[in-house]
Amino acid sequence: MTKKHIKAHIYKKRGKFHIGKYDLRVKRSLAGLGLFTFSPIKKGSCIIEYKGPTLSKKQEEDSNSLYLFEVTKTKTIDGAVRSNTARYINHSCRPNSEIDIYKGRVYVMAKRNIKVGEELNYDYDTDYFEAYIKPKGCKCIKHAPELWVK
Ligand SMILES: [Zn+2]
Repeated sequence: MTKKHIKAHIYKKRGKFHIGKYDLRVKRSLAGLGLFTFSPIKKGSCIIEYKGPTLSKKQEEDSNSLYLFEVTKTKTIDGAVRSNTARYINHSCRPNSEIDIYKGRVYVMAKRNIKVGEELNYDYDTDYFEAYIKPKGCKCIKHAPELWVK
């Protein structure tokens, strides 16, 4: 098999969850640090995987991590590890990306075409929003449009 064939084979196997090669950078954003793209991203593309060790129910209950991601009723990923660049993606109530879970793994997908220089965001689950974002006030484009005017 040539390199090209191998690539095509991998793509076929992982389909839409094949992670594209994008120039993603962590930068200062309205909510602390955020993840920005310096490559254009097409709607429906797989941008990045949300990675980390899997915790048991017990470990999850004892954890103080703010990066817990419940994949299934019994599987939770702790995304606090430094290598998990996806942890820098902030919440938005009007996001350009969304989460898709496939075979127990968590992928961030482009919800629409995303332009160079845009900060990536997705809608966190309601529990997190209620506990950590709402009390401080949501800084997303929907709730604080004045912050986003350039
Ligand atoms: Zn909001």
